[in-house]
Amino acid sequence: MCGIIGFTGSDQAQPYLIGGLKALEYRGYDSAGVAIEGPDGRIRTTKRLGKVKALEGALADRPTPGTCGIAHTRWATHGVPSERNAHPFCDCTGQIALAHNGIVENYAELRDELRAAGHVFTSETDTEVVVHLVESLYEGDLALALRRACKRLRGAWAFLAISSREPGVIVCARKGSPLVVASTEAGAMAASDITPLAPYASDVVSLRDGQFATLRPDGSVEVTDIEGEPSEQDHIAVDWEVSSATLGGYPDFMLKEIAEQPEALTRLLSGRVQSGIVDLDEISMSVEELRSADRVVVAACGTSYHAGLVAKSLIESWAHIPCEVDVASEVLYREVLADDRTLCLVITQSGETAETLLCARKLRSQGARVLAITNVLGSTAARMADGVIYLQAGPEVSVASTKAYTSMLVSVAMIALFLAYHRGRMSEDQVADRLSELERVPAAVSMVLDRQGLATSAARAFEGADSALFLGRRATPPPPRRAPSSSRRSATCTPRRTRAAR
Ligand code: GLU
Repeated sequence: MCGIIGFTGSDQAQPYLIGGLKALEYRGYDSAGVAIEGPDGRIRTTKRLGKVKALEGALADRPTPGTCGIAHTRWATHGVPSERNAHPFCDCTGQIALAHNGIVENYAELRDELRAAGHVFTSETDTEVVVHLVESLYEGDLALALRRACKRLRGAWAFLAISSREPGVIVCARKGSPLVVASTEAGAMAASDITPLAPYASDVVSLRDGQFATLRPDGSVEVTDIEGEPSEQDHIAVDWEVSSATLGGYPDFMLKEIAEQPEALTRLLSGRVQSGIVDLDEISMSVEELRSADRVVVAACGTSYHAGLVAKSLIESWAHIPCEVDVASEVLYREVLADDRTLCLVITQSGETAETLLCARKLRSQGARVLAITNVLGSTAARMADGVIYLQAGPEVSVASTKAYTSMLVSVAMIALFLAYHRGRMSEDQVADRLSELERVPAAVSMVLDRQGLATSAARAFEGADSALFLGRRATPPPPRRAPSSSRRSATCTPRRTRAAR
């Protein structure tokens, strides 16, 4: 799920940054970039779409001297993968550069505000607002400016920032996206995980959510809270065996992606669930369009079809809308009753599953509105649909789907709650109850993952079996017990407005 690396010290930064990005490649990304403070006091950025190798080639042709820099591999969430949208970003003066892993939820309002104040934006990303915000709050202390900026942000982040007015200083912030920092013989480093730091440090500090760090070329690492007060440091001894392996220490992509589920689900929920309401403004379909649907048809293939089965169960029991689900290839060959009051929900991790796309076209030609759930920004499904929910699970390499599947389940739950609320089938309190359960899912998944021993012993028990029978009832919680109050039922429009009016 993208990567971030910073180096400041006595050596040239470029080899540390490129080496670090390569060590983080296993996390998956679509573009890469570096920003290095030159000896002349200027910050230079180089960015490339695609592999780190392309960036490395560009830097080999035109090396960037300097002993302090930050670098990034991006997995696009806001703005298509392109050189223009690749990080790090600079402020209007070119004196501050910043890289980010995560999502800034309130970027649109901040961008309007900063534009009105004269800031000029060069990308479509959510991240760029942060560097301009830091610029607007900068009074000679980058760490203070970043702390002030974070107070105004909602979302998830790991930030690295440098300023040519404070040579050699890297400031870092963490909330929701992983970030570790370390003191090394050649200086100090920060990264998304231990892998790129392992060759240089035997001990790293894993920043907690809400912590900030300042790294200096002498190797010093200062960790503070948002007020700048010294904060406790969680030290981790580097396990060489684990960290030196490829795949970030995992033996295969499947295990790695299983382990990434809590991070992926946190990311998915962040921005869509706020103070007890589902905010799906991003899908660019009006509440009216969604509310008027009197029938939902889910079309998907393989694992996504199974997420569709859960969608049917949730949409019918929570939102009380008849929902049919079928394998996309079958939908193509039968009569499907659909018209302009039908919502066609297509679920596809890649956004390119041919049969699923054909279904979307077929139902659209009958008048249906198409809502896509996909993991890939700018994919065909995303482009052709009327509305999109991005899973934001990061690339999934393993053929057996793990984090994309669990992200699909959480997405369909959010859609079902959204519909239930806007159709007056659930009150705001009932939705809030369900959402607080959903918000506990990432931690619950972590708890299960911490019990790997049990999985291993269960696997041993099943090892020699020819077949297995799993018994259970209800994939979904029962419908709400309390009847929605009529005043709440009449609440309309966006949930945000409804909240604000209370
Ligand atoms: N939201 C940012 C973007 O789309 C950062 C994505 C990432 O974590 O790589 O550029």
